[in-house]
Amino acid sequence: MITKELTCVVCPAGCKVLVTLDENNQVIDVTGQTCPRGKKYAESEVTNPVRTLTSTVTVQTKDGAKMLPVRTDKPIPRPTLFEAMQIVRKTIVTAPVKTGDVVVENFIEEGTNLIACKDFE
Ligand code: SF4
Repeated sequence: MITKELTCVVCPAGCKVLVTLDENNQVIDVTGQTCPRGKKYAESEVTNPVRTLTSTVTVQTKDGAKMLPVRTDKPIPRPTLFEAMQIVRKTIVTAPVKTGDVVVENFIEEGTNLIACKDFE
């Protein structure tokens, strides 16, 4: 058995959660969380950690190049974040762009998109 200590990041309370795994890496116990969301987070974090990626891409406007805040519309697997950032760095969009517009479709995973978080005329 292995016990891992995590800090739940689902809300600002930051509970310390202990996850116990068996020899097959299966979760057999979760303690320390103060709500069900903490248990779900801890189980996911030790078996399939995911993150919502937030970053910026270049947007070409009539006033020149600016930075457009973007994020994924779903969490993506944490091991793919490096690959994801390589795509982000190469991405250039042209204004106009509105909040929620898809900047990169099927980003890293089928059905996940990189979306704009700001309007540019
Ligand atoms: S376990 Fe619940 S209360 Fe504690 S940090 Fe996670 S979400 Fe917040």
